[in-house]
Amino acid sequence: DPVLRSKASDVREFDTELAREVERMVAIMHGAMGVGLAATQLGVLRRLLVIQAGAEATPTAVANPEIEWLSDELAVAEEGCLSLPGIGVDVERPLHARIRGRDVRGEPLVVEASGLEARVLQHEIDHLDGVLILDRTDRDQRKQALRALREGTAYSPSAEDDEHSDT
Ligand code: ZN
Repeated sequence: DPVLRSKASDVREFDTELAREVERMVAIMHGAMGVGLAATQLGVLRRLLVIQAGAEATPTAVANPEIEWLSDELAVAEEGCLSLPGIGVDVERPLHARIRGRDVRGEPLVVEASGLEARVLQHEIDHLDGVLILDRTDRDQRKQALRALREGTAYSPSAEDDEHSDT
């Protein structure tokens, strides 16, 4: 899908249409048991994401997210993606992140995140820039994941424990 490779543009109108879009995204994220979703995954080229890193967490929408700071400390974990069904690959990312953006009403928002939440935020912001986990993994895993996508099969580097969160 070429939209997944496109760069989204800023949200400008913080109106009821945006609030409805956020509601729709949260519902789709929940329905897919995901922990995050970017508007571009639904074919909407706007800089908008929703995240809910964990069942206890409150779903949060971030419009026009900017990465303000990333830790030097990195971590590798397997990531899945709702746009790449059946695929999981190892991705190395900073463990901590500070993201600045706007909430659904247009008010400034800062999210200080660590661990899974920081990972999901970076994954969704990547989506807004047309970047997929396939671009963030090593060559061997990318090759095997692309083959699985072509053949309509599943791929995961840790095939036995299929424990990853789709985002
Ligand atoms: Zn994704």
